[in-house]
Amino acid sequence: MRIVLVGPPGAGKGTQAAYLAKNLSIPHISTGDLFRANINQGTDLGKQAKAYMDAGELVPDEVTIGMAEDRLEQPDAAKGFLLDGFPRNEPQARALDAYLERKGLRLDGVLDLEVPEDEVVKRIAGRRICRNDGAHVFHLEYKRPKVDGVCDECGGELYQRADDAEDKVRTRLDVYHRETEPIIDYYKQQDLVVTISALGPVPEVTQRAMEALRRTG
Ligand code: AMP
Repeated sequence: MRIVLVGPPGAGKGTQAAYLAKNLSIPHISTGDLFRANINQGTDLGKQAKAYMDAGELVPDEVTIGMAEDRLEQPDAAKGFLLDGFPRNEPQARALDAYLERKGLRLDGVLDLEVPEDEVVKRIAGRRICRNDGAHVFHLEYKRPKVDGVCDECGGELYQRADDAEDKVRTRLDVYHRETEPIIDYYKQQDLVVTISALGPVPEVTQRAMEALRRTG
């Protein structure tokens, strides 16, 4: 299956993507995680992306689209993929369509995670991420690690992303409404969108998502 996940920051895209990708045996491809890995490794790409990310703005399309396409070229993506955080605007969505068309492929579905804005702010403020693996996500209130500041899964250090600070969250929400929401309409025209509520316990949302995806593609 080839799936795109959309939803505002804090909707739980990363958390759900990790479970869904495992259930569906396809790679979870997060452009945010790819950028953060590049920053950790000190690459040129990471240097280009860092200031935009810290400010909560989108990294320019020239950089982002090339990075996403390189990742999609990896052999593990031949059997399908779950894209998390890409595309994030209409030019990126068109670039992805053009890429897939060149390969004779198409998307099977776009899963839209819906969550009210006040919940988004609460979720992001308490979020803590593992330095070793961005898919290891905790929350000071909803999913406390067994030991403060330490990842339950791998022992890595937990930290708060710079762009999870409250003023940056505002910017990211504005960017989401202005740039990313329009791609939902773009994909609706292709009849690809399934919308589910992202509220409730994580396993319930995963189950809802799996059922919704069965209705697509
Ligand atoms: P995320 O981990 O998906 O919340 O992404 C964190 C940050 O990485 C975003 O706020 C952007 O600065 C950058 N980023 C991730 N994906 C994209 C994308 N598709 N286009 C532009 N910037 C992106």
